[in-house]
Amino acid sequence: MLQKKRFLRRRRYFLTGIACGAAVMFLILHFIYPAVSAVSSAETASSGEKTDAGATDPDSGGSGNAGASSPGNSGGSACPEEQLRSDSGWELTLINRDHPLSHDYVPASLTEIPGGCSVDSRIADALNRMLSDARSAGMNVSVISGYRSYETQTELFADGMTERIAGGLTPEQAYTDTVQSVTLPGTSEHAAGLAVDITASSYPVLEESQARRPEQQWLMEHCYEYGFILRYPDGSEDITGITYEPWHYRYVGEAAAAEIHARGITLEEYLQDQ
Ligand SMILES: [Zn+2]
Repeated sequence: MLQKKRFLRRRRYFLTGIACGAAVMFLILHFIYPAVSAVSSAETASSGEKTDAGATDPDSGGSGNAGASSPGNSGGSACPEEQLRSDSGWELTLINRDHPLSHDYVPASLTEIPGGCSVDSRIADALNRMLSDARSAGMNVSVISGYRSYETQTELFADGMTERIAGGLTPEQAYTDTVQSVTLPGTSEHAAGLAVDITASSYPVLEESQARRPEQQWLMEHCYEYGFILRYPDGSEDITGITYEPWHYRYVGEAAAAEIHARGITLEEYLQDQ
């Protein structure tokens, strides 16, 4: 009996090990290797196209000269990490599947906010003001996630895949399923330190029912006043590539946030019109 138990335990460890290995191999072959190649070729391309974007405005292609036929086209603009390091326009850096962030990008300065999460220091004041005003309005809010390194994101993704493979899915199916709920490494705004996940303190769960909490309703209504937007609104999956996340707030600066809020659009659409 004891031996059988041991055997079953060993078999479980063995299968989990196989699932972990398969998840990691799949990630390397299907995502990490192509992403690193894409980033390095984008870097090569952008260094060859620098004159196109103009020396005065290294961010999103300058004042309306970006072709921007599709949010997926970088149109000769700087790669995300280059724009993030810039003194102007850094807050409008687009990070998504078409604009992945280099695996070695780390914000130049991180500031820890109350609760233990860190963010890019350039957004800390605005975030603290928003949180403080929310609390003054009776909203008990908590930041449950801020800056996350590329490695942490890769671990989260691998964990998601491992769980699904162990549950019986093939690596391909596990990938398709995981990508719906865990942001691919390199495409998470958390790696830039410009995004935070905020929930009601009494309900720190990342699910759609957050949208009905008074805390989220306050944030959705007021976040633009502090330069933040709800980055992945309901019904915008086709544009953002991410399902509705009524907790993920992204700093874009007050002017852009006010326009995005007033027009009810996404960051992709806003940048396309610039
Ligand atoms: Zn988030």
